[in-house]
Amino acid sequence: MKTGRRRDQRMMGRALALAGLNQGLTGANPSVGCVILDTEGHILGEGVTGKGGRPHAEEIALQQAGAGARGGTAYVTLEPCRERSSGAASCSSRLVSAGIARVVIAIEDPHPTARDGIGVLRAAGVRVDTGRGRARAARLYAWFFGSVPASRATRSK
Ligand SMILES: [Zn+2]
Repeated sequence: MKTGRRRDQRMMGRALALAGLNQGLTGANPSVGCVILDTEGHILGEGVTGKGGRPHAEEIALQQAGAGARGGTAYVTLEPCRERSSGAASCSSRLVSAGIARVVIAIEDPHPTARDGIGVLRAAGVRVDTGRGRARAARLYAWFFGSVPASRATRSK
């Protein structure tokens, strides 16, 4: 698979643009953007958090991508959730189940329930790269990070 900084930058830019579409419309949840590429680098799925906060961006993008996501790469503007308060399957476990090989994340999620989806991904053998697009994501989620208890929020730095 073709990799490289330029593609990472371009795809994360696309994910951030998607996230921007529903900014302010997702209730207490952050508006997240997700782009999924197949092993050849073709875009198979794209998603943004639904109005009101669900479905999550990764759910939408994975559903679009279907079986083609196996071995592919996911670009997500915020760390995929580890757990969901609703009890539904988390995005980190959905990415693992779909067989995604690499997840590129702009910024970590300090939220107590959602945080450490990265741990779930890595434990399953998924390669995780963070920090691409971090500055833009930090601006996009400043309001959300500000709503998280300070002791947790420090983790996002
Ligand atoms: Zn999620």
